[in-house]
Amino acid sequence: MVMNSDSENVPPADDAANPSKGFEGSYLGDASQLSDATILECKICWYQYDPELGDEVAQVAAGTPFSQLPAHWCCPQCEGDKDQFMIVSP
Ligand SMILES: [Zn+2]
Repeated sequence: MVMNSDSENVPPADDAANPSKGFEGSYLGDASQLSDATILECKICWYQYDPELGDEVAQVAAGTPFSQLPAHWCCPQCEGDKDQFMIVSP
C-alpha cells in the first residue's frame, strides 16, 4: 500500500556536519518510529500534537495516533508539513 508517492521531496540537506542522521528526535516522515502515544511538536510554531487530544481543528478524533493522521493533515496553527514535526515524547 503506497501513500504519498507523489512527494519524493527530500528536505534541504544543509546539515552537512551531521550527514547520516537528521535533527535529533525529528520525525522526517518515518512513522515506524512512532508509537500510538507519541507526542510530536511542530518545529515552526511549537504546536504539539497529542494523540490523547486529537485535533479539533482538523476534526481528528481524540485517541488518533500521529501515524494515523490523514495524509493531508498539517499543523493547525502554521499549516506546516507533517514531516517537519519532531518527536517530543516517544
Ligand atoms: Zn506549526
